Amino acid sequence: MDSFGRKIDYLRISITDRCNERCLYCMPEGYTGWEQTRDHLTADEIIRVVRVAAGLGFRKFRLTGGEPLVRGDILEIIRAMKTISGVEMIGLSTNGTRLEKFAKPLQDAGVRAVNVSLDALDATIYKRVTGGDVNQVVAGIRAAVSAGFERVKLNCVLMRGVNEQEIWPLVLFAAEHGVPLRLIELMPLTRTDVLTEKNFYPVGDAMKLLQQRDELIPRPDARIGHGPAQYFLLKQTGALVGFIGALTNLHFCENCNKMRLTADGKIRPCLGDHGEIDLRSALRNNADDAALQKIFLSALQSKPLEHHFRDNYQPTRPMTAIGG
Ligand code: SAM
Ligand code: SF4
Repeated sequence: MDSFGRKIDYLRISITDRCNERCLYCMPEGYTGWEQTRDHLTADEIIRVVRVAAGLGFRKFRLTGGEPLVRGDILEIIRAMKTISGVEMIGLSTNGTRLEKFAKPLQDAGVRAVNVSLDALDATIYKRVTGGDVNQVVAGIRAAVSAGFERVKLNCVLMRGVNEQEIWPLVLFAAEHGVPLRLIELMPLTRTDVLTEKNFYPVGDAMKLLQQRDELIPRPDARIGHGPAQYFLLKQTGALVGFIGALTNLHFCENCNKMRLTADGKIRPCLGDHGEIDLRSALRNNADDAALQKIFLSALQSKPLEHHFRDNYQPTRPMTAIGG
C-alpha cells in the first residue's frame, strides 16, 4: 500500500530506451539522447528486481521501453520471470513491428497480455506519426491474436489534426479482430511542444465522435487488464473501447496501482512526477535482498497522490527510458 491507501502491485519495466520507430509524441526525429547500454540493467539484474518486487507483493509485470522487442535477450528475461513465485501476470507493450515473428515465442515464454500501439491504419498517416510501416504492425497484431495470449489490446494516442479521422477505422479494426481499443490522451512525456491546445484531442471529443456512429454502453465493471481505461461497448459494432483521459479525467490517479522501473535501474513511482529512486547502484554494490526491498518501500512511500501533467509539467528525460 502506498501512503494514500492504494494497492500498488504492478511494475512496468523499461528494458531498453532504444526503439525502431520515431513517434511524434515520444521520440523526435534525429533523437540521439540514448542511455549508454552499460547503464541499462542486465537480464540478471532485471530478473533479480522482479524477484525482490514479487517478494514484496508485486504480482503484475509489464515489459516495455523503448521497444522491448529490439532487446535480444527478451525471451530469456521472460522465461526467468515466469519461474518466480508471486509473478501472476507478465505483459508486454510493443509497437508491433516485430510481433509477427515474436508473437508465438513470447506466448511460449510466458507472456499473457500484449498491448500494441496503433495510431492509424492509413499507411501514410501511420508513417507520419511513427516513421514505420503499418503493414508490419497489422501482421503483428494478427499473429498476436492467433498466438493464444489471454489479452491483446490496441493503444491509440489521440492527436487533433493528425489521426482523428483514423479513430473510426481503428474501432472497426478492433471489432473485427475481437480486441479492445484504448484511446489515450497525449501527455507531455518526452516533448512538451506536441502537447498544444491545437494538438490535444480530449477523450471526451472521441466519445462524442463515436456516439455519432453507434451507441456507447458503459462497462464500468470491465476491468480488461490492469490499466486506467474507462470502457464502453459499442452496441452495433461490438467493439470495446477504453478511454484513457490522463489529462481531462480528474480522478485518473485515484486507482493507480503501478510503479515503474527505468531502463537504467531507477524506480519511478509516478510517470508524471520527476521523483526517481536509484536501485542500480545498490544492485551493483552487492546489496542483499533486504536492502533492495527497503529501497522499493521508500519509493512506494514517496509515490505522489497524482501526476503533474496539468501543472506545466516539463519532462526531464524521455518516455522511452522511463517505460510507458
Ligand atoms: N514501444 C512500445 C509501444 O510503442 O507500445 C512500448 C513503449 S511506448 C513508450 C508505450 C506507450 O506509451 C505507447 O502506447 C505509446 O503510444 C505511449 N506514449 C508514448 N508517448 C506518449 C505521449 N506523449 N502521450 C501519450 N502516450 C504516449
Ligand atoms: Fe518507440 Fe513506442 Fe516511443 Fe513510438 S511510442 S517511439 S514505438 S517507444
